[in-house]
Amino acid sequence: SLAGYGPAGPVNIHERVLRAMSVPGQNHRDPWFASWWKEILEESKLIYGTQRGTPFIFSGTGTGGWESALTNTLSPGDKVLTFRYGQFSHLWVDMMQRLGLEVEVYDRPWGEGADEAKVEEVLRNDTSHKIKAVCIVHNETTTGVTSDVGGVRAAIDAAKHPALLMVDGVSSIGALEFKFDDWRVDVAVTGSQKALSLPTGLALLCVSDKALDARKTAKLPRIYYSWDDQLNTNPSGNVPYTPSLMLLHGLKESLALLREEGFDNVVARHHRLAEGTRKAVEGWGLKLLCKHPRWQSDSLTVIEVPAGIDSNLIVKNAYSKYNLSIGIGLSKVNGKVFRIGHLGNMDELMMCSALSGAEMAMLDAGMKITPGSGVGRAIEYWQKTSKVIPTRE
Ligand code: PLP
Repeated sequence: SLAGYGPAGPVNIHERVLRAMSVPGQNHRDPWFASWWKEILEESKLIYGTQRGTPFIFSGTGTGGWESALTNTLSPGDKVLTFRYGQFSHLWVDMMQRLGLEVEVYDRPWGEGADEAKVEEVLRNDTSHKIKAVCIVHNETTTGVTSDVGGVRAAIDAAKHPALLMVDGVSSIGALEFKFDDWRVDVAVTGSQKALSLPTGLALLCVSDKALDARKTAKLPRIYYSWDDQLNTNPSGNVPYTPSLMLLHGLKESLALLREEGFDNVVARHHRLAEGTRKAVEGWGLKLLCKHPRWQSDSLTVIEVPAGIDSNLIVKNAYSKYNLSIGIGLSKVNGKVFRIGHLGNMDELMMCSALSGAEMAMLDAGMKITPGSGVGRAIEYWQKTSKVIPTRE
């Protein structure tokens, strides 16, 4: 098995979650299920920062979550405003286009995030309110960039525009601060294999009343990912089709772990792990793909390698020599960057092993790195900033 530290999802699964998923076959039509399912749906609100939103949990992945968000709220030919700054924002645009939406997409340099001023300008000019939704990838997992969703909400408000705000939080929700209610997000999407640290296989959404209303007139076809089918069953603790019970057992335990740690502590831990990783990168004398501190992600760090070095070789060395899985550069940054994930079930010592492995793998790839230079900077920072583990006070 892999040491497993480092990729940006799938991530390490906690032992308690693994044990919780180890159940015999169960029947979701038996009497225990209804209250259990309602409890999980309610508890999932924790990761979105919501009291008012309506949560949904589908079998699927983040991509299914996108489809659910778009098809339940929009009609063919509707106009959508979005930005493209990495592979995932690119793929979401591709889905919008394939669904027959009219996409107004602004390309941003890879390493930057959503441009709030552009949102305000475009929406102000859209006086007839043709734009029905603003879609933002919160944390672009290709580049290690976190966009400012609160800032995008402020831009929509400044333009006094009624567009829905839809957010891909696949690699942010459950790890980074997310304020569904305060930012008045209309649809938030995530997947089980990222911050929730479960196996792949669940698409999770949170939906505002405004987005729920939009479904009444939205004409895009939706079947499996329909909110109506879920709304017809969820309130009574029923399901429209067979749920993935083992994953739901895992989800319940994963949410319990987050609850025990305290969600503010979870967010603070991700910030601490990210800061230490950024210090390591400085120690190595390397640069982040994301140059501007306002956008630097606390869920993963994307590191540029010097010209003449193939970053795929570093990832390959890490895997084959040190049993460490780190992320390759995707699409147009393939070979130029590698990615260290620090989201989900992660702590300082796990990160020390990821940074040590990355350091050795870079040396193997012929890079001029002083052994210990990155790990040293990280542990110096973590030794000073680590707190007593909340459950061990
Ligand atoms: N959005 C982001 C930001 C992602 O990182 C990913 C996957 O890594 C996706 C969407 C797609 O999710 P999935 O692969 O679970 O369908």
